[in-house]
Amino acid sequence: MPLPQVVAVAEHSPAERSGVWPGDELRSINGRVPRDVIEYQLLADEPIVDLEVVRGGVELEVTVLKQEGEPLGLEISAAIFDRVRTCDNHCEFCFIYQLPKGMRRSLYVKDDDYRLSFLYGNFTTLTRFTEADLERVVDEGLSPLYVSIHATDPEVRSRMLRNRRGAMSLRWLRCLLDHGIEVHGQIVVCPGLNDGAVLHGSLAGILDCFPELSTVAVVPLGVSRHSKEPAMRPHTTFEARTTVETVTEWQERFKTTLGRPVVWASDEYYLLAEMAFPEAAAYEGFPQHENGVGMVRSFEQAFEEGHDHARPLSPNGRSIPGRSGFFAWVEGAPAEGYRAPRTVGVSLRAGPREEKGARITLLTGSYGEMVLRPLLERSGFMEVRVLAVRNEFFGGNIAVAGLMAGSDVARTLSDEGVPGRYVLPDVCLSKGRFLDGSSPEELPFPVEVIPSDGASLRGYLEEAR
Ligand code: SF4
Repeated sequence: MPLPQVVAVAEHSPAERSGVWPGDELRSINGRVPRDVIEYQLLADEPIVDLEVVRGGVELEVTVLKQEGEPLGLEISAAIFDRVRTCDNHCEFCFIYQLPKGMRRSLYVKDDDYRLSFLYGNFTTLTRFTEADLERVVDEGLSPLYVSIHATDPEVRSRMLRNRRGAMSLRWLRCLLDHGIEVHGQIVVCPGLNDGAVLHGSLAGILDCFPELSTVAVVPLGVSRHSKEPAMRPHTTFEARTTVETVTEWQERFKTTLGRPVVWASDEYYLLAEMAFPEAAAYEGFPQHENGVGMVRSFEQAFEEGHDHARPLSPNGRSIPGRSGFFAWVEGAPAEGYRAPRTVGVSLRAGPREEKGARITLLTGSYGEMVLRPLLERSGFMEVRVLAVRNEFFGGNIAVAGLMAGSDVARTLSDEGVPGRYVLPDVCLSKGRFLDGSSPEELPFPVEVIPSDGASLRGYLEEAR
């Protein structure tokens, strides 16, 4: 098993003062071999931290003296040091099976690891969860966790996961809730499989068996043109409307019984159904924002008010930053805290100041276009253009800005034919690369990359006027 490597040492940090170098490999902390960044963080909380490191093949011992709870100041190469637990399911709707060939290898990993659920909000089906995992989650208070439910009917669930363990693994959800762990659920709805009466049954099952669930997001499956599953198809407008209506009906039942709505349909459903979004207040603080629930309303609110409301706090007071794009967890652990921060916006090549006054063109996915155009118009930014990037890299019904590939952005810019002031949201980049591995520097014209929240866009547009 390769040792976790130090990729950066923060300036003036305890680790730098004690002589830890980038490139050092971490063998142990206070005599223990950490399995992941969660354990690393716990061990490194001590005021005296004895590190066993390997530098250029030579073993060294470094003692770091610091305040209790003060971060060491190291950025580590991975969040999971032993092995990411991969899933043993074979869901027909799995997006990983629908990825084009030739992407970086880490993107094809099907994880089903409760640690990544805690660290990054990845959803776990619990089919590989064990008694020892439960003990650790409870002992270390790894909360909140995110669980894929899909259906509460054991037979439907195991059919959807193509795994007979799927029938019984929700018993772990019951155990987690019994131990006071905060859990957020999701149901990925596949037409003809778990919509209609099955969806009604699942929401009834949640009310009956898992009423402590904090929230449940109902999201439509994504179907790329690379899918090899003939039964998997996008929703029709009618099916999307029916699903939104089912969720709305159940929100009322949950409110009557539990005093809170519990379940929300994702934004994509409202776009597919051509229905108006609920008001921002209806999302009650946007607890499933990163799963696409209430993103549009929080974006609009942040754009109009100039600050972002959609950064929920977990019960232990930690903020839950947004993911910096699809599969963000593969990019390694942050220097501080448990969760990876959103990519910081950077300008690439085009200098906004040089081009002040030039017409701005916002590049976004087809869904983004549906939201941005009316928002800009009613906010008095009529001069700003919105240019939708058609997603041919994934194809199918994939239309979100976060899955824009460099090749599609390049084609869109080439079709434009002239340089201009093009602006790209950072949500489609991870460490400066698109999902297809290309970078903004390779695009035919310069672009500026800005953070993907409404407040940042507003600030950018006002500054550019
Ligand atoms: S559980 Fe998730 S990763 Fe595993 S096959 Fe199903 S969708 Fe894919």
